[in-house]
Amino acid sequence: MFSETKVRLFSVFFLLVFSFLLDGCGPPVPITPEPVKMPEKEQQVTFIYEDSFSEEEQAKLETWIRFTSDAAQKVLGEFPFDLYYHFHREDSAIQAVLFGHTARTDSINAAHFYVDPSYSLDDLKADWIAPHEISHLAIPKLGKTNLWFFEGFATYMSRQVMIETGVLKPAQTDSINLARIAAVRENFETTSLLPFVADSLIAAHQYPAVYWMGASFFDQADKRLQAAGKGPLVDVLKKFQECCHVTTMSIEEVIESFDKISGTFLFSELYTYYTTTPCNEILVTYKASTPIQ
Ligand SMILES: [Zn+2]
Repeated sequence: MFSETKVRLFSVFFLLVFSFLLDGCGPPVPITPEPVKMPEKEQQVTFIYEDSFSEEEQAKLETWIRFTSDAAQKVLGEFPFDLYYHFHREDSAIQAVLFGHTARTDSINAAHFYVDPSYSLDDLKADWIAPHEISHLAIPKLGKTNLWFFEGFATYMSRQVMIETGVLKPAQTDSINLARIAAVRENFETTSLLPFVADSLIAAHQYPAVYWMGASFFDQADKRLQAAGKGPLVDVLKKFQECCHVTTMSIEEVIESFDKISGTFLFSELYTYYTTTPCNEILVTYKASTPIQ
């Protein structure tokens, strides 16, 4: 009589031998071939000099923009197009980067930088303009009436990029953002709706007010996504570059796309709130308690 343990051991031994025979000597098991992945086209980065720069200056500018562009795409996902970076010379400027803007057509995605090349590489890296302009490229160009959204996006995202480049510390970035948003509250003490108020502030060259009001949308979105276990916001952006970023999109299509990627209705709900709520109610939770840095 076998004991129960011996019967169990025998069964295990038999199964091992049987499976060895099947694997080693049995008929070949059909293997589904792995789909052959075509090599993806590598993103090309082109530098264009609009003015005369020495070789040394060109090397410094290219090192700076490659560093910032790589950091931006590490945070926001690789943009699905080639990039063109233009440099304009601004001698004796009061700061390393005086000005910047993007220039986009159906086939060209470019950013222009007006720089004083006498500043050091560290000075260039510490400036906010390149992270801001390159962040713009993470979503399609939107109409002029959506400037609060478009600029708010670049304002909020540039801070995430500056954490990646080491200019900002993660721990202090949130409180700086909150202080900057709180500081523009007084520009929105009206019962009018944001799209109209933003347009009149832009017409009056009150850009920081519109930028930081817009940034509050993305601050809210990021925090709500994380509270729902669906964040952070930059992860939605990374997926957006892979699946959904095309040249021409309306703001509604961008928002619908963010909703689908995050598996929420958070972006469309927030967008409705921002565009239909009297301005003086939108920023009530932002208190001017932190000094601006
Ligand atoms: Zn901008």
